[in-house]
Amino acid sequence: MTPLEKLTRPNIWSLAPYSSARNEYAGKTARVFLDANENPYNSPLNRYPDPLQEELKQAISNQKGVPAENIFLGNGSDEAIDLPYRCFCQPGKDNVVAIEPTYGMYKVCADINDTEYRPVLLDEQFQFTAEKLLAACDEHTKIIWLCSPNNPTGNNLNREEMVKVIEQFEGIVIVDEAYSDFSRQKPLRHELSQHPNLIVLNTMSKAWGCAAIRLGMAFASKEIIGLFNKVKYPYNVNLLTQQKALEILKDKFEVEKWVSILLQERGRLMEAFRMLPVCKIVYPSDANFFLAKMTDAQRIYDYLVDEGIIVRNRSRIQLCQNCLRITIGTRSENSELLGALRRFR
Ligand SMILES: *Cc1c(COP(=O)(O)O)cnc(C)c1O
Repeated sequence: MTPLEKLTRPNIWSLAPYSSARNEYAGKTARVFLDANENPYNSPLNRYPDPLQEELKQAISNQKGVPAENIFLGNGSDEAIDLPYRCFCQPGKDNVVAIEPTYGMYKVCADINDTEYRPVLLDEQFQFTAEKLLAACDEHTKIIWLCSPNNPTGNNLNREEMVKVIEQFEGIVIVDEAYSDFSRQKPLRHELSQHPNLIVLNTMSKAWGCAAIRLGMAFASKEIIGLFNKVKYPYNVNLLTQQKALEILKDKFEVEKWVSILLQERGRLMEAFRMLPVCKIVYPSDANFFLAKMTDAQRIYDYLVDEGIIVRNRSRIQLCQNCLRITIGTRSENSELLGALRRFR
């Protein structure tokens, strides 16, 4: 790996971060807080939240099997997707490489940060090779984006090829594992200690059922986490989010139950789709959604909207012609979708 100092934008490497009132006293016990111009009334909302979310990181560490010092928490994965650009990519000069098709936020954040985005098309099985991805890189490539299970295709990427990319690329490799709770593939977050250039993303928005609270995470070396902490807004995860996340983390059996029901429903729904006259291909899925090639995706999408059922029309995306992306809902929601599709003429 290229030394982190060389990968990092010089202004970020030398940045003196904002030092908050709460940063400065950290570690000691105090009773009277007259340091942050807060209002003494309206507890607990009057106080600024923990800028480094120590208690929450400990709970996530226990749950995810990643040391707390290797965890960054952000305002959704969105923040953890944007920060690497701000830390590593010199606007107008550096570039990133990504599989295509994949999650749209990687490109949006590249555009916002004036960073060239180089998509590398997956094959017909929605798989990739390290060789083809690395061939798209040059000396200005700072980041390679992988997503496994991938969105919108639903499948796991080939793990050996991912490891090859991580080992052979000199820059940063980011693997978005937003859907790994639905997959049987071993998550890469357990191999951080072997890969100093690896960043793994997770989120509370999917299996954990907490899209509303906006909590995303990045797992990486302490050095990379240190850079993110320097660049992030000081209080990027609010108190209500920290409290709600701690609550849900205490009830992991509930989450396991949701995942198991959703996987069972995924099997049922995919099987039923295979029998639908309007469905031509059901692609394999390792996530809580699947991609289906239809006879006429746009007409079927419009019909479903009229029926009050919203799915995602992905037909204008490369390799996804005439494809709808179907999120697994409750049993009765899934049955409603099937009923509507059986009535479609
Ligand atoms: C849904 C999704 C996320 C979640 O983003 P949040 O900002 O955490 O809600 C991240 N990555 C991928 C690939 C997704 O599909």
